[in-house]
Amino acid sequence: MQILNGKEASQAIKDGLKMKVAQLAARGKTVPHLAAVLVGNNGASETYVASKVKSCEEVGFKSTLIRAEESISGLKLLDIVRELNGDPDVDGILVQLPLPKHISEEEVINAIDPAKDVDGFHPVNVGRMVQGQAAFVPATPYGIMLLLEHYKIETKGKHAVVIGRSNIVGRPMSILLSAAGYPGNCTVTLCHSHTANLKELCASADIIVAALGRPDFVTADMVKEGAVVIDVGITRVPDASKKSGYRIRGDVAYEEVAPKCSFITPVPGGVGPMTIAALMKNTFQACMQKHGEETEALS
Ligand code: NAP
Repeated sequence: MQILNGKEASQAIKDGLKMKVAQLAARGKTVPHLAAVLVGNNGASETYVASKVKSCEEVGFKSTLIRAEESISGLKLLDIVRELNGDPDVDGILVQLPLPKHISEEEVINAIDPAKDVDGFHPVNVGRMVQGQAAFVPATPYGIMLLLEHYKIETKGKHAVVIGRSNIVGRPMSILLSAAGYPGNCTVTLCHSHTANLKELCASADIIVAALGRPDFVTADMVKEGAVVIDVGITRVPDASKKSGYRIRGDVAYEEVAPKCSFITPVPGGVGPMTIAALMKNTFQACMQKHGEETEALS
């Protein structure tokens, strides 16, 4: 069994970007600029945005964090997005989800300029991705593709089971794995809460991507010997022994599943860091496209 070390793979990607950014700066070009919008004080969102901003610093990007009160109106938030759309200095925009219930996430996502939509949630980018055209691909599934590539994991002809069909993880993951090319060319089964025979489907999978947000859901009896298991889940589980009062659990019962796998991601240190590396790649790409430079988006 080999651990898919997301920290290491993401560091390699960030190191590569850092070099490219230094070259841009040396040529007198502007460096990529990511603007992140954070609404309210959700603890998990604060942590995610902080690590995105930190990664920007690490690779030499400019970043701007715009904070808004939990009570901000949908219209005001749309104004912020439009202002960032029109700001020539901003290459990438991300609005950290989830948003408070009174704001329509759909409206906010649809308002982002697709050319700056580095989260890849805008319908234009989703449509391009589905058709195999160059697009900004949502960071978590893109990060998983980069991880499979980093470890040269064979995907052609494999049966991949994706658990979870959200727009940000499961559904795009199923599209990418089933697309022509590498990593891809899988036969994909997309499972959700109404899937009848989930255990059997998982037990026949060569690759499992668990993205449902239910700690320890995937157990050893659901996993075939030699399977590749990608654990996307991040759930805070109460733990009095920790200073924070919680620990992070994935969707896979790691201790019992790992011995059966050929490759497995740990939580934390697997998909999480890859998500951020993918976001950095998308932001770099947005900047390159703005300057009419060569593109290298995942298509
Ligand atoms: P989500 O929007 O809540 O979607 C969960 C999906 O799982 C839904 O499609 C749901 O089915 C399905 N599901 C729930 N219970 C199920 C069950 N018992 N059997 C089969 N399917 C079930 O969640 P998400 O945003 O995709 O996130 C999933 C997990 O990944 C969360 O733990 C989240 O924190 C984590 N995450 C991690 C990263 C990272 O960077 N590592 C990034 C994003 C998300 P229905 O559609 O039928 O309701």
